[in-house]
Amino acid sequence: MSTYDPKSLHADDFINHEEIMDTLEYAKKNKNNFALIDEILSKAKPVRNGGVLTCKGLTHREAAVLLECDDPKKVSQMIELAEEIKQEFYGNRIVLFAPLYLSNYCVNGCLYCPYHLKNKAIPRKKLTQEEIRAEVIALQDMGHKRLAIEAGEDPINNPIEYILDSIKTIYDIKHKNGAIRRINVNIAATSVEEYRMLRDAEIGTYILFQETYDRKGYEELHPTGPKSNYEYHTEAMDRAMQGGIDDVGLGVLFGLEKYKYEFVGLLMHAEHLEAVHGVGPHTISVPRVKKADDIDPSEFEGGIDDDIFTKIIACIRIAVPYTGMIISTRESEEVRKKALAMGISQISGGSRTSVGGYTEDERPHDTEQFDVSDQRSLDEVIDWLIDLGYIPSFCTACYREGRTGDRFMSLCKTGQISNCCHPNALMTLTEYMMDYASPSVKEKGMALIRKELENIPNVQVRGVAKLHIEEIMKAGKRDFRF
Ligand code: SAM
Repeated sequence: MSTYDPKSLHADDFINHEEIMDTLEYAKKNKNNFALIDEILSKAKPVRNGGVLTCKGLTHREAAVLLECDDPKKVSQMIELAEEIKQEFYGNRIVLFAPLYLSNYCVNGCLYCPYHLKNKAIPRKKLTQEEIRAEVIALQDMGHKRLAIEAGEDPINNPIEYILDSIKTIYDIKHKNGAIRRINVNIAATSVEEYRMLRDAEIGTYILFQETYDRKGYEELHPTGPKSNYEYHTEAMDRAMQGGIDDVGLGVLFGLEKYKYEFVGLLMHAEHLEAVHGVGPHTISVPRVKKADDIDPSEFEGGIDDDIFTKIIACIRIAVPYTGMIISTRESEEVRKKALAMGISQISGGSRTSVGGYTEDERPHDTEQFDVSDQRSLDEVIDWLIDLGYIPSFCTACYREGRTGDRFMSLCKTGQISNCCHPNALMTLTEYMMDYASPSVKEKGMALIRKELENIPNVQVRGVAKLHIEEIMKAGKRDFRF
C-alpha cells in the first residue's frame, strides 16, 4: 500500500487515495465548524506589508472544508474573498487566447471524447503545414496573439516532429501586423526527451488535463490506448518539468467523476509540484464535459450544476492565489461572467473546436471535439469584457521576458504587476483596437485605454506606456512590452 507523500514521484503517493478519503471525511465533519472556517478564511486573506502583497493560500484539507460547507453566509464570504484575491493579484485584466485543433487522429479509447479510436462516424483530419498557415492567418485576422494547440494522441499521424513543425510554422507566420507570440501546447503525456524538444521550440505552457484523479474511474474511462496508463499520465507534469518546461497547466474534466474528490486531487497535484520542483502549476483549467458526436454528458455520474461549478472556481482561487485560471467556450456567456469575477484570469474567445474550423465561413461540426456554448466572435467577447469593466489583454510578455516558473509569483509579491501586466495589457489592447476592432468597439476600447493609463502607479512607466501607445497608434509600431 502506498502512503501519502507530496514529495514522492509516484502517482499513488502524491495523489494518495487514502489521504483524499480522509480529507473528505475531515471536511464533512467540519462543514459546520464556523470557528475553523473563519480561521481558514482569515488565513487565506491577502496581506499587504510595506508594498509587498502576499497570500498564503490553503492546504488541500483546508480548501476541502470550504468546498464542503454549504452555509449561505459562509459561502458568500468565500465568494467575496475569491473576488478580493482575484482583484488584488490579477486586477481587471483578462488574457485572451484561442485553441487550434491540428489533428483529430487518436489511438485512445477515452469514453468522454468523440475522437476515440472506435468512433468511425467522424471524419479524421490532420492539417498540413499549408492548412495550418491558413488557420493561423484567420486567427491573426481576428486579433489573436496566443494559441493553445490541440491534437489527439497518435504516434504515426501526430508524432512529436509534426507538433514541432507546426509550432515553427505558426511562430514564423508574419501576416499584416499579426503574430502569434505564445503557443501553449495541449498534447498527450510524453517522455522527458520530447518535453525537452517542446521546451526548445519555445512553447509557453504545457497543458495536460488529468481528466480524473480517481484511479479506478480513470481506468474505466480510459479502457484502451496509451492514455489508459494512469501513472504515466499522472506523472507527466514531473517529466515536463524535468524536461525544462517551467510553466505547466493542470485541469480536471469536471462532470465525469465526483467533484469533491477531483478538487482535493487537483490541489494535491499542485502541492506536489511545489514540493518537488519549487513551483506550482502556472494555470488550472476548469473544463466541464460537453455533448459531442457520440458523447452524452448525462451518462457520467459526476454532473455538477452551475452553482457548484462556480463555487469550485472560487475555492480554487482562494487555495492557489498565484495560479492563473482558465475557462473555455465550453461554458456559456452567463457562467463565464460569474466565473470571471470569482477568479478566472484567462478565457478563450471566438473558438472553433474542429480541425480546420477557422477557415470555414460556417462553424463546422463534423470534426468538432465538443459543442461550443459561447459562440460569439472575438470582437463581441472584447466588447462584452469592456462593458463588464475588464481590460481584455493580448499580453504574452512574461515568458518572452523569461518570467516563467516562480518568477510570476515574485512579480505579484513585489506589486510590480500594476507596473508591468497593466501597461502590457493596455499596449496589446491598443494593437487590437488599431488592427482588428469594429468601429464601435474601437471607440469604447480607446476610451478605456486612456482611462486605465492613469492607473499605472509608477510615473515613469506610465510615461513610457503613453509614448508606446502613441507609437502604436501613429507610427504603426508593434510589440512593445515591459
Ligand atoms: N489528446 C490530448 C490528451 O489526451 O491529453 C489532449 C488534447 S484533447 C484535444 C483536450 C481536452 O479536451 C482533453 O484533455 C479533455 O479534457 C477535453 N475533452 C475531451 N472530450 C470532451 C468533451 N466531450 N467535452 C469537453 N471536453 C472534452
